[in-house]
Amino acid sequence: MTSIVWFRRDLRLHDHAALHAAMQTGDSIVPVFILDDWFCRSDKVGDKRLFAYFAAVESLANNLAHAGGRLLVRHGDPVQVLSQLAQETGADKLFFNRDYTPYARKRDERVHEALTSQGVFVQSCKDLVLHEPGEILTKQRTPYAVFTPYRRVWQTLPKEQPYPFPESLPMFERLQELQGEAVPTLATFGRKTLDGEEWTVARFGERAARERLKQFLNGDIQRYKERRDLPGLDATSRLSFALKAGTLSIRTVYHLVQEALAEARGEEVSSIEAFLTELIWREFYQQVLFFHPHTTEHAFLPQFEEVAWENSHDLFTRWCAGETGYPIVDAAMKQLNETGWMHNRLRMIAASFLTKDLLIDWRKGMAYFAKQLIDCDDAANSGGWQWSASTGTDPQPYFRIFNPISQGAKFDPDGVFVKKYLPVLRDVPLQYIHKPWEMPKEVQEQATCVMGLDYPIPCVDHAERRKLALSLFQEAKDRH
Ligand code: FAD
Repeated sequence: MTSIVWFRRDLRLHDHAALHAAMQTGDSIVPVFILDDWFCRSDKVGDKRLFAYFAAVESLANNLAHAGGRLLVRHGDPVQVLSQLAQETGADKLFFNRDYTPYARKRDERVHEALTSQGVFVQSCKDLVLHEPGEILTKQRTPYAVFTPYRRVWQTLPKEQPYPFPESLPMFERLQELQGEAVPTLATFGRKTLDGEEWTVARFGERAARERLKQFLNGDIQRYKERRDLPGLDATSRLSFALKAGTLSIRTVYHLVQEALAEARGEEVSSIEAFLTELIWREFYQQVLFFHPHTTEHAFLPQFEEVAWENSHDLFTRWCAGETGYPIVDAAMKQLNETGWMHNRLRMIAASFLTKDLLIDWRKGMAYFAKQLIDCDDAANSGGWQWSASTGTDPQPYFRIFNPISQGAKFDPDGVFVKKYLPVLRDVPLQYIHKPWEMPKEVQEQATCVMGLDYPIPCVDHAERRKLALSLFQEAKDRH
């Protein structure tokens, strides 16, 4: 008997629910990855994001090859590819891990229907989260729209153990003979290769993810609570890509974090708990998207669907390029553009600035993040954007507007982060680092940072725009 294991956003061999389920059957295995044209050709997906994803696929292919197998790469509509593959191999079972985006759910339903009608047994498994949408409901059997009560229930529920690493993988005997494509690269889709030594396949693979987790658990997690908001320290886990592409399993992360918690003392306990809370946010947003699939396109709170955004093209271009004249926002955008990742505090500041200072629709910012972020996840991205724009599930009222100067001073007090991504501000005295436009002319010259020449003059006045944002939100509320 033969089982197909379809890899999607679970690009690993360790602790993999669908692979484990297939192994339990005693069948020989056909591991397959299917290239989705939409994703690879879309100009909505940037080069860094695509590179990272392909690198994770290549790393899985290498790991399978080391285990004596092969990752079959095919191109096309999953229904046709899987149906054809089942015929070619005589496979009578298909296993994959569930994904909760509206697109994935529709695709998987089509696959389920087609393969079942062909006589193939189809099993989908829980793998992406510890608690799936629908597992945690209110007393009225409705999904939670507020995080804190959701978190309380999440914490009380028992968790599955990680699946053991397979001692050997019984591969389909004609696996090497099957027709397959090379693992894609940027060049496959006519894109230019990325420069810079950080763009290596190894950095995005399963081994790198496991090492990153180990390093974090042996170090930064102990002081996560006090340092997680300081982008200059780089003290968060940086596991978001691994959790998005599934080069790391959430079960493994959770159980290793629990082990760290059991050994923690004093302040370390609340730090590790704070980290766990972030993992719960991840699952909270998965269930928000599952129950409210419209939230990737529309405001969760209908009253804010009608905000009369200004949507200035020029201001949007300046925000994207990191040229707004507000150092913390600009450095954040440079970090995104250069590395494909942005610190969480900065994602909130940049998103607040776009929506409340530049009065640009959160959907435009969300799409820009989706293009640039290697860790882009529809649930977390729309959740984060709607939180920042005050249109989402959480009690972040529309009148709470981040001040980019005080946020900079509080979370980058010595300007280390800003100077790293905006070297032109390197010699600006600390008292001006988050408001360089206040530098007297002679100080600007001494610091070789002349406003309007070396660094942009602020593109808007925060105090004025704040008032305008408040009135636009109030008007939308009144109209509703
Ligand atoms: P850590 O602080 O180490 O957190 C550990 C893990 O918890 C993260 O890897 C992530 O999987 C999860 N997590 C942390 N914070 C959140 C959160 N607020 N919501 C959901 N999950 C969270 N995260 C993404 O993974 N993909 C996105 O596309 C994304 N877009 C965002 C957009 C905006 C506007 C905002 C405000 C936040 C967004 N986030 C997104 C959440 C968060 O910023 C990132 O998960 C985090 O910065 C990743 O860095 P880390 O792995 O070092 O996080």
